[in-house]
Amino acid sequence: MAKEIIIGIDLGTTNSVVSYRQADGQIKVIPNPEGKPTTPSVVAFKPDGEQINGEAAKRQAVTNPDTVLSIKRKIGSSEKIRIQSLKKDFTPEEISAKILSYMKDYAEKNLGQSISKAVITVPAYFNDAQRQATKVAGEIAGLEVVRIINEPTAAALAYGLDKEHNEKILVFDLGGGTFDVSILEIGDGTFEVIATAGDNHLGGDDWDNEIVEWLKKEIEREHGLKLTDKMAIQRFREAAEKAKIDLSQLLETTISLPFIGMGASGPISYEGKLTRAKFLDLTKHLLARVEEPIRRALSDAKIKASDLEQVILIGGSTRMPAVQELVKKMTGKNPNLSVNPDEAVSIGA
Ligand code: AMP
Repeated sequence: MAKEIIIGIDLGTTNSVVSYRQADGQIKVIPNPEGKPTTPSVVAFKPDGEQINGEAAKRQAVTNPDTVLSIKRKIGSSEKIRIQSLKKDFTPEEISAKILSYMKDYAEKNLGQSISKAVITVPAYFNDAQRQATKVAGEIAGLEVVRIINEPTAAALAYGLDKEHNEKILVFDLGGGTFDVSILEIGDGTFEVIATAGDNHLGGDDWDNEIVEWLKKEIEREHGLKLTDKMAIQRFREAAEKAKIDLSQLLETTISLPFIGMGASGPISYEGKLTRAKFLDLTKHLLARVEEPIRRALSDAKIKASDLEQVILIGGSTRMPAVQELVKKMTGKNPNLSVNPDEAVSIGA
């Protein structure tokens, strides 16, 4: 009989990740059916009621009103989510369970054995109702949730910081839709969250939106055409996210959108360059919003930046060079990036 496996799930607002410990002790992220380590936390239903998940659900999000995004923002509340094609209401736990169930399923296929236990992470600021609802979501998905742990604690574990003594660390987490700063005190193998701050409505999606707005204006300037249809917006979003990701590596990227709309004299296409400098200029107000929560967390923890032993960056948006520079400037520490920022929480779990 195969040895029992307990999976570690980072159930994120925009993306989720599942990992497990191999027989040799190494932690491995389990790829989704598209071969990717992170899976969009998106569930959608086609007009015929068929459920779609992850990447496929994200790709049609703009055009399908029966798409549920960012359900984590509602977990623990009594809000209901109406799915028109099924003429049915769902609780946030039930929708979250569909994400977990999809992940459990691909993990089982990947590992070739059934899985019944999981550790799931939650933000440090989650209250009891939100933690309980996360646990219930796991149970609906057929998982016994053996532990709910705090995301920054999981990240610190992924960095092996449980071996440190009497250290204060800052975990900076900028994901797709949310921003969290936590300050932890590490004792003898224990972690205490001594302060949390953040912005529940700030993340990589906002950076993408600035590029989308810029693209709309560029096309209007070139072709005198305002594109507002959903198909075009979906393509703008995809192109914007790709350009943003390119600009984490490159100083300039080309955005090309063939046949993006219909002009007076036929179909129009767009091709243009976006430089990192222009991108920084378009998004500087977003970067500025990262500063205040860092100051607040330090002041709530009653410490100075110089009291921090380490600064850890997690969340995919910390790959943006401007974000890394800002954190370095504000904390005076070279942020630790040795564990993949989108995988650290799941690996720790
Ligand atoms: P997470 O929720 O932690 O998976 O973070 C997702 C966010 O990270 C999305 O907004 C992604 O577009 C963004 N992201 C992922 N990789 C990069 C990258 N290389 N540069 C900039 N943003 C990225």
